[in-house]
Amino acid sequence: MMQQRPVNLAHILEHAARVHGYQEIVSNTVEGGLHRYTYREALSRSKQLANALAAFGVSPGDRLATLAWNGYRHFEVWYAVAGQSLVCHTLNPRLSPEQLAYIINHAGDRVIFVDLPLISLLEEIAEQLTSVEAYVVLTDREHMPESSLPNLLCYEEMLGAHRDDFVWPEIAEQTSSSLCYTSGTTGDPKGVLYSHRSNLLHAYATVGGNCFGLSNATTALMVVPMFHANSWGLVYSAPMVGAKLVLPGSRLDGSAIQQLIESEAVTFSAGVPTVWTNLLIYLKESGKGLGGLAEVAVGGAAVPRSMIAAFRKNYGVNVLHAWGMTESSPLGTINRLPAIADTWSEDERCDYACKQGQPLFGVELALAGEDGERLPHDGGTQGRLLMRGPWVIERYYGNQGTALLEDDWFDTGDIATIDTYGVMQIKDRAKDVIKSGGEWISSVDLENAAMGHSEVELAAVIAMPDPKWQERPMLIVKPLAGCKPDKDDIRNLLGQQFPAWWLPDKIEYVDDIPLTSTGKLDKKAMRQQHLAG
Ligand code: ADP
Repeated sequence: MMQQRPVNLAHILEHAARVHGYQEIVSNTVEGGLHRYTYREALSRSKQLANALAAFGVSPGDRLATLAWNGYRHFEVWYAVAGQSLVCHTLNPRLSPEQLAYIINHAGDRVIFVDLPLISLLEEIAEQLTSVEAYVVLTDREHMPESSLPNLLCYEEMLGAHRDDFVWPEIAEQTSSSLCYTSGTTGDPKGVLYSHRSNLLHAYATVGGNCFGLSNATTALMVVPMFHANSWGLVYSAPMVGAKLVLPGSRLDGSAIQQLIESEAVTFSAGVPTVWTNLLIYLKESGKGLGGLAEVAVGGAAVPRSMIAAFRKNYGVNVLHAWGMTESSPLGTINRLPAIADTWSEDERCDYACKQGQPLFGVELALAGEDGERLPHDGGTQGRLLMRGPWVIERYYGNQGTALLEDDWFDTGDIATIDTYGVMQIKDRAKDVIKSGGEWISSVDLENAAMGHSEVELAAVIAMPDPKWQERPMLIVKPLAGCKPDKDDIRNLLGQQFPAWWLPDKIEYVDDIPLTSTGKLDKKAMRQQHLAG
């Protein structure tokens, strides 16, 4: 028999401090300037915070929230809170005030750790909050603001009053560690409660060579926010192997990201496509480069082929196309080119990289038809994508009923194909697919192709109701600054890849395309804007 040593996420930071103690965490601070320190110091400060929270009077399972960008103090809070068997609830600052108030009350958060520039969001809703006892501003005394928030505490003062000798408790591995709400693009936001076990297994799976491939030689720029789908597990996987961690704070524009990549010698990064669109535009305009950046994981929405090609051809950066969701911690699949890709043409490599890739060990995928029947994995048959595994949701926070179908399958709400090698390709979200004359048109495929036009910055396809065909595609285009692409040109481009009945009946130009709080095409808003009346 083997040992039953208990598992605690805080052990990851203990390990990083012990084995990779010299390794740096570099943060773009909200007060201005870069802050740098080591994993050793991060652990010591997390323990000071853990002592401060114990003195505040917390009980296992209490929810403590954060409303903050990616920075070193936010990182410390994650470990201090989960490590002492409390639940760290990450709030997304891009949510509406109503949604924020709803999820804070729903979670019953007792304390909120907040970044300086985000305090006004809380001031606006403080009177509606029923469970919050204190607000901790993630800054020092010098920068403490005037605020109408009751019980306002200073983070650095809290830490300064406590020692760094905290002993992490022994806990069951199923103990909850963190809570993240889906952004509610369909209905009220729903809470996904992660455990020490699920996060740890997810970190082991995602750190490895087939996935992010992190090591103590990696410098990882964590663009994906800590409030978005668990920051793809990087808060755990990077220290697990002693990767240097670069945290960009609130500045996610092309110029700030490029500067960090060069000055910190970043080798790996991860984020949603919209961030990289802005970076690539900035690089083109400025003529700047990406230093030693070798790989970038892109997911959360389909990655346009033109983005994959631009990264590969212009900057020598390999794109790892990843798919997942808040409900799956979030990584489900990732696309890393196999060795045989060396024998392919560059075009074939780009085509392959457009797919969402193979499941990680731990994740099982299946396809279901209209009546729940299993569909073949032949690379052509489309069906509802089901998944299961130890880091996939079982039930939403506060819900009694299971979120699963029979045999533990979770219906992702995505429509996909899977081929004989297990390579998965997302065709659409079930609610976004266009049903034309009984056949399906993939809005994702059309968007992807339209973004291949040299004068198109962003493209979205939504379904227009149609008396004859039920639905027909409408293409909404945000042209690149100063461009007005020809509509026939775009139609011709699409016509090269798709049958005539797939081509959009209507193309509209807009100055801006609305994005969701996690930076995805907001099709709900677009339907309201373009189809109202
Ligand atoms: P929300 O549902 O609030 O947008 P998530 O970030 O959990 O929050 O979104 C998960 C969904 O995002 C998936 O179900 C899928 O539809 C979409 N998605 C994620 N990654 C990809 C990808 N690489 N390609 C296409 N769609 C993706």
